[in-house]
Amino acid sequence: MDYTVLSTEPCGCKLFRHPGRNMNLIILYCPKHEAAPELYEALKVALEGSEVENGRVVSRATPTSLAILQGFEALAEADGK
Ligand SMILES: [Zn+2]
Repeated sequence: MDYTVLSTEPCGCKLFRHPGRNMNLIILYCPKHEAAPELYEALKVALEGSEVENGRVVSRATPTSLAILQGFEALAEADGK
């Protein structure tokens, strides 16, 4: 079956049309977008304990070692390593 590439985004994500499934659209994510859920979780964990009010940092927490490791793993995945 032939997949028709509809577009390649600047980030590297590709949009295909699948001929066998009612022409459904398929997205092949680039490494950064593939890693988006891990990046989101890592950022949430890294920011735990810190607070912002009215655009000002009112509480600054040091990320745990686990949060730092999780962040670097997510970045490596996003960089395609
Ligand atoms: Zn992308």
